[in-house]
Amino acid sequence: MPIYEYICQDCGTKFEKLIRRDSDLETLACPSCGEKRLAREHSTFAPKMGSSRQNSPAMCPSGGACPTPGKCGMN
Ligand SMILES: [Zn+2]
Repeated sequence: MPIYEYICQDCGTKFEKLIRRDSDLETLACPSCGEKRLAREHSTFAPKMGSSRQNSPAMCPSGGACPTPGKCGMN
């Protein structure tokens, strides 16, 4: 299961979140201030570069592990 790193845009709190389903993203909020303006960092297996979307075909733009790479409009 993918674990994502998030940074709160309001207070700067950095935390990790295990995403098991899409609904986890909808309820995701900062554990410190409760705001939902979060910037997602790439998990450890993804390159921290601007072109990371191209280099990680398994990552769906909808925000999660894509079960069918190439069928979600990425490629
Ligand atoms: Zn916060």
